[in-house]
Amino acid sequence: MDLNSKKVSSSVQIYALGGLGEVGKNTYCIENDNSLLIIDAGIMFPEEDYPGVDYVIPDYTHLRENQSKIKALIITHGHEDHIGAIPFLLMQVKIPVIYASKLAGALIRNKLEEHHLKKAVKIVEFDDDTIIHAGDFDVEFFHVTHSIPDSFGMYITTPQGTILHTGDFKIDLTPVDRDFDIAKLVHFGDRGIDLLLADSTNADKEGYTQSEKSVIKSIYDVFHHATGRLIISTFSSNLSRIQQIIDAAIHFDRKLCIFGRSMESNIQSARDFGYIKIPDSYIIPADKIKTVKNNELLILCTGSQGEPMAALSRIASGEHRSIHIQPGDTVVFSSSPIPGNSVSINKVVNQLIKCGADVLVNSIFYNLHASGHPCKQELRLIQKFARPSYFMPIHGEFHMLKQHAEVAIELGMPKDHTFILGNGDCLRMFSHQIVEGTPVHADAIYIDGNNINGVSNSVINDRKVISNCGLISFLIAIDQKKSQTFFTPRFKTYGIMLGSGKGSLIQKLPQILETELNKRLNATTKKEQIQDMVRIICNHAFEREKIRHPAVISNVLFIK
Ligand SMILES: [Zn+2]
Ligand SMILES: [Zn+2]
Repeated sequence: MDLNSKKVSSSVQIYALGGLGEVGKNTYCIENDNSLLIIDAGIMFPEEDYPGVDYVIPDYTHLRENQSKIKALIITHGHEDHIGAIPFLLMQVKIPVIYASKLAGALIRNKLEEHHLKKAVKIVEFDDDTIIHAGDFDVEFFHVTHSIPDSFGMYITTPQGTILHTGDFKIDLTPVDRDFDIAKLVHFGDRGIDLLLADSTNADKEGYTQSEKSVIKSIYDVFHHATGRLIISTFSSNLSRIQQIIDAAIHFDRKLCIFGRSMESNIQSARDFGYIKIPDSYIIPADKIKTVKNNELLILCTGSQGEPMAALSRIASGEHRSIHIQPGDTVVFSSSPIPGNSVSINKVVNQLIKCGADVLVNSIFYNLHASGHPCKQELRLIQKFARPSYFMPIHGEFHMLKQHAEVAIELGMPKDHTFILGNGDCLRMFSHQIVEGTPVHADAIYIDGNNINGVSNSVINDRKVISNCGLISFLIAIDQKKSQTFFTPRFKTYGIMLGSGKGSLIQKLPQILETELNKRLNATTKKEQIQDMVRIICNHAFEREKIRHPAVISNVLFIK
C-alpha cells in the first residue's frame, strides 16, 4: 500500500463547532487526515443574563490545532449566524480561501473592510455550476429559497461517501428571487447521499412555512395606514424583506432614506449586483430628508433589536443627526426580538411612544425571522428528494433536532441511522458507513466589544455575580517582618446592603478578616494565597449571616 492510498482511506469526520443545540454560530466541519473543510462561520446573539456580551462565537482551538489541513471555508448564505464570525475566525486561524455566492461574498467583503481585514483572505465566488476541489473533498451546489437571495445548499463528495448540507432554507414556491433548485437536489439524491444535514429551526411546526410573497399584503397594510413618515427597522441582512418593503414604497410613491452603516452598505452591495431593485430617483440622501413631505417618506434603518448604537435607538433618544421623532410618525419593528434583547427593545419602544410615534411591534412583521425556515412538510419533502442513508439534523435547539430526527424515522429511516448531536460530537464515515466517533474540543467564546480574544466563561460568571450580588473590595496591608496585618483591612462595597447598625456584618467584617488572616499568615504566604483566604473568610461570614455572596476582590500590599 503506498502512502497516497493510505491517506485516501482515512475515515471522514463530520462535526459542528457551533449550531447544534442552539440557533446561531453555525460552524460545521468535514475533516480527514489530509483535509479540513469549514462550512459557515456564524455568530450567535447571547441569551439574557450575559452582562456586557455582544455576541457569542465558537472556540476555534480545534481549527487552530489543525490549521495546516484547512482547505477552505464555504459559506451557504449571507446571514450573520453564518458569516458574522468570519473576522474573528480570520484573526485566529489562517484560512486559505473563502467560497461564497455573489451576494454573500459582497456582504463578507463589507464586514472585512470594517475590521481592516480585507487582505487577510481570498474570496472566490461560486454559482450553481461551480465544482470546488478542496483537498480530498469536492463540493457542488444547489440554489435554495430562504429570506436572503443567493442562498445555497451543497453536495460534498469525500473518499468515504457523500454528504448533503441544506444550509438554511424553506421550500418557497413563490419566492422573491429565484426558485429552489429541486431538480438538482433530486439529481444528487439519484447519485446517492450517505449523510443528510438539514435545517431544523422550524422542525417543531407542522405544515408549510409561508412564502416570502405572502407578507407583501401585510406590508401594504402598514403603508396604507401610515399617514406621516414611515420608519421601518429590520436586520440589514434580511434582503428579501427589504426588497418587498422597497416595492411597497415605490407602489405608494414614498421616497427611501437609509440610516445605519450596515443597512447602507448591504443595500448598496445588493443593488450593485441586481439583488435589490430601486430607481435612483427614489433614494434620498439623509441631508435632503427635509425636502420630502412626511407622507412621501420611508426611512429604513438598523436597530430592530434595540442595539444602543444603531440608528433607531439614536433616533428614539433624540441623538440622531438628521431626524427626530414627531407625532404622526409610524415606526415598525420588522424582526422578531432575539430573547436577550427584549429589555433594550422595550426601552426604545417607550422612548418612541413618548415622542408621539405609533409603534408597531406585534404586527405580522413580527415572526419574520422564523419564516425563512422549513416546517415539517418541507422537511418530509427534503427527505423524499434526498433519500439519504443517514441523517443528522442541524441548525437548532435540541427539541428541534429531536423533532426533525422523528420526521426521518416516521418516513422509514432506522432510528440508529439518525444522530442528534451537540457541538463537538463527531460522526465517523468510512466506506459509506457512519458511526459516532471521538468528540473534538468545542466551547463558546463571548465577545465583548470588538475584543477578538473574547471573554471566558469565568469572566461572565464574575459579571453575573457582580450584577446580582454586588462587589466588595478590600485593601489589605501585611507587615512582612511580623507576618501580620499592618492595619485592620479597609473596604469599599458596590451594590450591596450589609446594614450599618451596631453588630451588623459591615461593622464586624474588617475585624473578622483581621483575626482570621492573622491566624493563617506566615513568612511564606504569597499574595494569591492571601486573596484566596480573604475570599474564603468573607464567604463564610456571608453564609453565617445568610447574605448572598458578592464578588470579593482584594488588593494586597506587603510592607517591609
Ligand atoms: Zn439564514
Ligand atoms: Zn441561519
